[in-house]
Amino acid sequence: MTFDFDLITLGAGSGGVAASRRAALHGARVAIVEGSRVGGTCVIRGCVPKKLLMYAAQFGDAMHEARGYGWVLPEPQFEMARWAASKAAETQRLEGIYRTMLQGSGVELFEGWARLDGPNRVVVNTESGEKAITARHILIATGGSPVRDSIPGIEACATSDELLDLQQLPDRAAVIGSGYIALEFASILARLGVQVSVFYRADLPLRGFDEMLRTAIAAELTAAGVQLHPSSVPRRVQRTPGGFLLSLGEDRVLEFPWVLNATGRRPNTAQLNLASVGLQADAEGALSVDADLQTDASGVYAIGDVTNRLNLTPVAIAEGRALADSLFGGQPRRVDLSRVASAVFTLPPMATVGLSEAQALEAGLHVAVYEADFRPMKQAFIGGTERTRMKLLVDADSQVVLAAHMIGADAPEIIQSLAVALSAGATKAHFDRTIVMHPTAAEEFVLMREPVRLLPAA
Ligand code: NDP
Repeated sequence: MTFDFDLITLGAGSGGVAASRRAALHGARVAIVEGSRVGGTCVIRGCVPKKLLMYAAQFGDAMHEARGYGWVLPEPQFEMARWAASKAAETQRLEGIYRTMLQGSGVELFEGWARLDGPNRVVVNTESGEKAITARHILIATGGSPVRDSIPGIEACATSDELLDLQQLPDRAAVIGSGYIALEFASILARLGVQVSVFYRADLPLRGFDEMLRTAIAAELTAAGVQLHPSSVPRRVQRTPGGFLLSLGEDRVLEFPWVLNATGRRPNTAQLNLASVGLQADAEGALSVDADLQTDASGVYAIGDVTNRLNLTPVAIAEGRALADSLFGGQPRRVDLSRVASAVFTLPPMATVGLSEAQALEAGLHVAVYEADFRPMKQAFIGGTERTRMKLLVDADSQVVLAAHMIGADAPEIIQSLAVALSAGATKAHFDRTIVMHPTAAEEFVLMREPVRLLPAA
């Protein structure tokens, strides 16, 4: 049987583009289908614009700190519309680069929403009508989008998509949820002058992260003026002419002019006509895949957020490239997801690689825990209260370093480098024999001499 293409990729986000370009590099004839903007969540409405807004927020801190270092500055003022214009130009520039890269690799772009139409066949709803294309392999890389039905009435609230397109910031805001998106934007908004309240159902934010990071970020957010409401989630959200009413039970109703719904994301599979190839998504809409990224339908693969496993851009990219190498490069390989580092761009930021202390305990490991907790030099000089906290988990038997956690300035940059050492199997002795670079914060990671505790406790 002959096909129009060797591979059709659904979704031109980071994962889909990486897979398509790598496949084309191996000589495959590749089509990629995208109904929205090329670049996907990370480039257009996620990681990239979020980080650009975080930089804007950091300048606020920097100007405040600069006064402690002798600068005389006028009272600064942040104008969201100016940032929004620059952001729009930057995402447009990046989208252009993505388009050029696809073209340069010989990948054919079809613009429109796609649906599966039986084995090997995809129908694209383009501006000029429906177009059917066929391929030997189909890759689903359609990502995810914000959940809008987690709480009755929440569909009227903004999500991160809308936040990043605001032209003006509200004076006060409620954030619902305490995951990555909730905390990053709570930090950013607070630093940009918004009075922020965060409502979440757990006792600490960022479920799943190491307890040290969870406790520390709660303290840092509080110090930055953010009001935290643990064990407190609205039962209902109601739109009013002036904003939103959050019903918190027992006659407790609070009004906010603006509310961010940060209650998670869900895979984009509802419109894909999965049944036509005999596929069914799980309750969240996710596709399950085996270790080779193959779905339950022969010739249909899935990578990245649509599989709802480790929803991080670099994971989707790594999976896309591994799949292309396996299918078209004669180099079958799998991605190791056992030690993926990740960062939460709160202010201060945090980053982590490896297990949390609770996960290590649960896994029955014998672990030595090393910690450092200090006020960094830059803060001490100006009487700032922000602290830096670090933790290493070391296997008590093999002395292999299992995990590194940090909250404080530059944590993502530092942990990214440490992740290399961990993936190379570094032991505590390797850390101990490393001569420090002084004065830095990172040096504390190689100056931890005695464990603060052993797990499990005797
Ligand atoms: P998360 O899964 O991180 O957080 C979702 C939050 O919503 C949790 O606090 C959760 O509470 C809460 N929640 C879910 N359902 C309800 C409900 N019905 N009522 C009240 N609260 C609810 O999702 P995000 O949307 O923040 O991020 C999505 C994914 O995107 C992340 O998992 C991450 O992988 C990725 N991401 C990564 C970033 C980075 O690398 N820096 C940045 C942004 C996103 P609970 O904990 O109690 O379940």
